[in-house]
Order: sequence, then C-alpha cells, then structure tokens
Amino acid sequence: MAYFTSRGGGNSNDTTLYEILGVTKNASDAELKKSYRKLAKEFHPDKNPEHGEKFKEISFAYEVLSNSDKRETYDRFGMEGLKEGMSGDSGGMDDIFSHFFGGGMFGGGHPFGGAFGGGRRRRTKGEDTVHRLGVSLEDLYNGKTAKLQLSKNTICAPCNGHGGKPGAMQPCRTCQGRGIKISIRQIGPGMVQQLQSTCPDCKGEGERINERDRCKRCHGQKTVKESKILEVHVDKGMREGQKITFRGEGDQQPGIEPGDVIIVLIEKEHDVFKRNGADLHMEHTIGITEALCGFQFSLRHLDKRDMLIKYPAGGIIQPGCRRVVENEGMPIYRHPFDRGHLIIKFNIEFPENNFASEDQLAELAKLLPPPPTQPEPSEDAEEVDLVDYEARHNSHGDGHRQAYHSDDDDEDGQGGPSVQCAHQ
Ligand SMILES: [Zn+2]
Ligand SMILES: [Zn+2]
Repeated sequence: MAYFTSRGGGNSNDTTLYEILGVTKNASDAELKKSYRKLAKEFHPDKNPEHGEKFKEISFAYEVLSNSDKRETYDRFGMEGLKEGMSGDSGGMDDIFSHFFGGGMFGGGHPFGGAFGGGRRRRTKGEDTVHRLGVSLEDLYNGKTAKLQLSKNTICAPCNGHGGKPGAMQPCRTCQGRGIKISIRQIGPGMVQQLQSTCPDCKGEGERINERDRCKRCHGQKTVKESKILEVHVDKGMREGQKITFRGEGDQQPGIEPGDVIIVLIEKEHDVFKRNGADLHMEHTIGITEALCGFQFSLRHLDKRDMLIKYPAGGIIQPGCRRVVENEGMPIYRHPFDRGHLIIKFNIEFPENNFASEDQLAELAKLLPPPPTQPEPSEDAEEVDLVDYEARHNSHGDGHRQAYHSDDDDEDGQGGPSVQCAHQ
C-alpha cells in the first residue's frame, strides 16, 4: 500500500532573481543572456529531470530580467511588485508564482514581508504531491499498470468548502483577517525587529467559525480526507527518474487550484541485467572449452522469453570480451517496437591445476598453437620457480612477515598462527 507525502516548497527565502541567474545586480543584458543560456542548458529537464523546478526558476528569472520594464519593477518593488503588475497575465505565470510564493519567498523575515498590503500568504495553486515509485526492469520492459492508493484532502461536499452555513465564517478578530500576528522586538538601542508569526487563533486562515455553525462532516475544516486509487501506467521503455503527472490530483483547498500528483519512477536493480539507456548489459561465464570450441546457452529475457544464444565452433571468446545480441535491449519509450541491444561480457573459467595427465597435456599441446620459440638460455642461467602470488599474499597479509615464514607456503591460508617447519 503506497502513501504519498506532501512536498515542501523548495527555494530559499531570500534568493533574488539575480542570484538565481548567478549575476550581479548591475549585469548587462549580454551577461544575463550568457548566464541564462549556460544554466538553462545545465538544468534542462530533458537532461536533468531532477531539476525541473530549478529550470522553471531560471526561465522565470530570465523572463523578468531580460525585459527592461519588468526588471525595473522588480528592482523597485521586488516580487510583490511583479505580481501586481502581471495579474491577469497568461495562466503559466500563476504556476511560477505559486512556485515562488508557495515556497515561502515572502515568509517572515523577508525585507518586503507585509509591506505591500495584505501580507497574508495567498497561493493560486496548491502544492504538488511527489511519490517515488519503485519499478523493476521487467516492469519497464513489459509495461505495467500500478495501482496506488492516494489519501488526499478534498473539498467537503455538504458545506461546499465553506466549513459551515453560508456566512457563518467570520474574519478573525485577533489578526483582522490577515492570518498573521506581528510583534515588535527590541534588539538594541533604537533598533527593533518586526516579527511575523501565524495567528494562533485562526491558525493562519484569517477567519473563524462558531462552534455550533460548523459543518458536521468536516468540523469547519472545509476539506475532508478521502482516499482514491490512481492507476499509474508505466509504459514500455520508461526510465529511472521519469515523471508521470496527474494534473490537479493533489490536495484540494477552497479557492485554490489543486496541485498535481507526480509519480517519479525509481528503477530497481536487476540480478542479471544492467541498463544503460536503451541497452542491456550482462556478464556470462563460460569454460575454456567453450571459449575455444563454440557454445550455446539459453537465457531468460525480461518478458520470460527464452533465447538460445549460439556461438559457432571456430569463433574464439577472449577473457573480458563483449558480444552483442542485436535488438534484444530495452524497448524505446513511445517506440516500443524499436529496441536497444543486449551486450554480453564474457568471463572465462580456466580448469583447475592438474586437470589432465602429462601425456594428455602433451596431446592437447599438439592441438593448440605452438609456443613462440625462445632464445637458448645462457650456460650459467639460474633456474627459479614461479609461485602463486595471490595465495601467498592472502595467507600472510603483511609482506615483511612473509620473509620470515618462507617455509610454509603450502599452508591453507586460513590465517591463525602458522606452524613453522611442520613437515619434512
Ligand atoms: Zn487570526
Ligand atoms: Zn463541511
């Protein structure tokens, strides 16, 4: 059973549009443009789906600052001034404003907080609800419909979101309907700080309702919790981080357009396949005989189809080499009949020591390519042995001690105190 968590606003309180673009307040148009291009490229949602909000901020900042009228308004009156000037603009603006305002750019402590009348925070769109949905590689290969239970606030039907009988709601007297309480604190001689906090009596709503006039269903809250099943269609070829948006399915609040429910896909790791874009990668281990004499093996694909993978006698597989099964990778999103490739990296397992007798090895050597001819060793060449480096290294750990215990290199390497000269 899934649940959704509501996301808080992302941006910090005092970020200016100049800071968003990484320029100074007296930046020229050319500087703005240059910086905007660079950032827009970096945070473009196609490349960087995680940073969709950031991209919105960048686009918005540039839209304002590249227009001399808007820039002047912003310089003089800040965001609030822009908001006044733009009300009645295209719907897209609402969205970006709700992003900035919802995120609390004008929360307590902002230099312009409350200076432009009202002061009560007004959002035009509710917050989005983001849910991360884990999906297997099989789901992304075959497509899948996931059902998610969403618990959300909906406008109370009996009172139509009024919280009680029409007219029962009265402006809060404590805060005069502003929803905030302003207090003055002295922080030094002749210096005061203005503090804003949510009105405790109306909890920031700015209005209150009499106990007996309250709606029986929502108890004056205007909204009720409701659960709803969302069908999430995971399409073939979708990717990690891809978003599926349900417009307007977020929490409802009277007078505010509900936010969206955004499902973010999280790809789970697979035991066999690793995905790289549209390609699938895997490793497969074969024996020396198969590496030299050809092989076949069957492999179950993500749609449970068995593939018989053949490599004919005569072909050689070298350790670590890769071979491709064409068009057996992931389906391409929105072009499910096109697929990437399956790339197999081969590991070769060599036989154990003494797997054959000396006579058999001589026979085998006749089949294999002859070793390269070596120059004759000189008369006084000293014969030395080759010893397994890993086994020695692991059984002794420390290289200095190894010098003292050079007699016991055939011990089993399980640590513990070594017995010197135990045999012979
Ligand atoms: Zn109040
Ligand atoms: Zn109600």
